[in-house]
Amino acid sequence: MDVFLFERQKKRWTMKKNYSLAVAVGCAFSLSFAGSAYAQGNMEIATWAGFRDAAAVFTFDDGCANQLSVAVPIFDKYGYKASFYLVTGWSPNYNAYQALVDRGYEVGSHSDNHASNAADGRTMPDSEITSSKTNINNRISGQTCNTITYPNCEEPNESTLMANYIGGRICGNGIDGPTPSNYYRINSIICGNTGSVNSAEAFQGKMQDAISRKGWVTFLIHEVDNGSGYSPTSSQAIDGALAWAKANDSKIWVTTFRNAIMYSRERDASSLSKKTGDSSSETYTLTHSLDRTLSQYDYPLSIRVQNNNSWTTVSGSQGDKAITASIKDGYIYFDAVPNGGDIVLSNGQGATPPVSSSSQPESSSSQIESSASDGIASSTSFNPEPSEEISEAIQGNFHWNVSGDVLCQVFDMKGQLLKNLSVPAAQGTALLWNAVNVGLPKGVYVLRYGNEGVMRSVQVRK
Ligand SMILES: [Zn+2]
Repeated sequence: MDVFLFERQKKRWTMKKNYSLAVAVGCAFSLSFAGSAYAQGNMEIATWAGFRDAAAVFTFDDGCANQLSVAVPIFDKYGYKASFYLVTGWSPNYNAYQALVDRGYEVGSHSDNHASNAADGRTMPDSEITSSKTNINNRISGQTCNTITYPNCEEPNESTLMANYIGGRICGNGIDGPTPSNYYRINSIICGNTGSVNSAEAFQGKMQDAISRKGWVTFLIHEVDNGSGYSPTSSQAIDGALAWAKANDSKIWVTTFRNAIMYSRERDASSLSKKTGDSSSETYTLTHSLDRTLSQYDYPLSIRVQNNNSWTTVSGSQGDKAITASIKDGYIYFDAVPNGGDIVLSNGQGATPPVSSSSQPESSSSQIESSASDGIASSTSFNPEPSEEISEAIQGNFHWNVSGDVLCQVFDMKGQLLKNLSVPAAQGTALLWNAVNVGLPKGVYVLRYGNEGVMRSVQVRK
């Protein structure tokens, strides 16, 4: 852990003396979701998360101010996330980007200096492939910078890219299939007044193309509205694009560049097999052997298996966690993390009903307080007032100089365990907050974390 981060975390820690527990929290899991079109008999991994037809990724280059002030509120309005590519030498507002990462957005590299003319050479220098990544990781916690976009659309040294990033974006103006021919040359569509897309209808057309191809469209956006940056795209067009995506949410998966890359790679590398099964329960395994140096590759894949015993209700778990499982049209649908342990599907609701997005309490702190005390009775002090402040308080508990494994558990307000993560403290650049922020519906949760026999819990609102 670099000194800057440690100092910043220590400062937060000092400000929150009531959270003076020394724990190393490193829930090192990456953002993720679901599936591949790889049917194996009566089992199938979806091509894209939620068995959607296509993925749409919105990438923003150069750190233009209006991206934060104008574009982000539009993404928030529809509940979508985007990816932001910073030129580290242009003094990005790291605090603002940290706040975005804390909410599930992605920050990646767009070089240190944006080589821009013949004298510079227009291609990113080899050294900046690694230094820009380090510069971002030194300033942004809760994620690893592992995707990149190339200044001037010119791909730099590919072997250095491969050693540092899981994927990179060129221009190309095309739409990729489910699996790009080269993850370091992923296509994108240039938007704005110098590009082919600058209206809601144009965005929609590209997304429809992606749907018809079961593919993946990546939009490249620079300035928004009337800022001074390159090739401005109108906020109206972005709003219209996301409104259309929301109305077609069953067909198109709007996600970050990183998530799309993870999903695509995991889906192609994973194999699903049935381990055991009878009329009341079935066990499956989902594994891949992707190298985990640059990513945990643990984005949940969307899966369906035939409902051979005609169950009418189903519950699911993976490892110690409940997972969402549902029945539709002769199949059982669920999302599972590759290498995340055995997946058990059981007839009936079972002891660990799936997470329901509608059952999470949204407000009423008094209701929350009382139900929380029913939840994890033994371990802890609950904060009775879940709020934004609490997520800050969680970060205040980070201590990086603890070795060994760190446990991080997420419970719903009925006390049911939803996630159970154990990671080496050395991987502690990912944030505890992500445990709640990723893959769970909006609501209030109890987060329990710690190591070396010392556990603590807080309530958090997502
Ligand atoms: Zn640029």
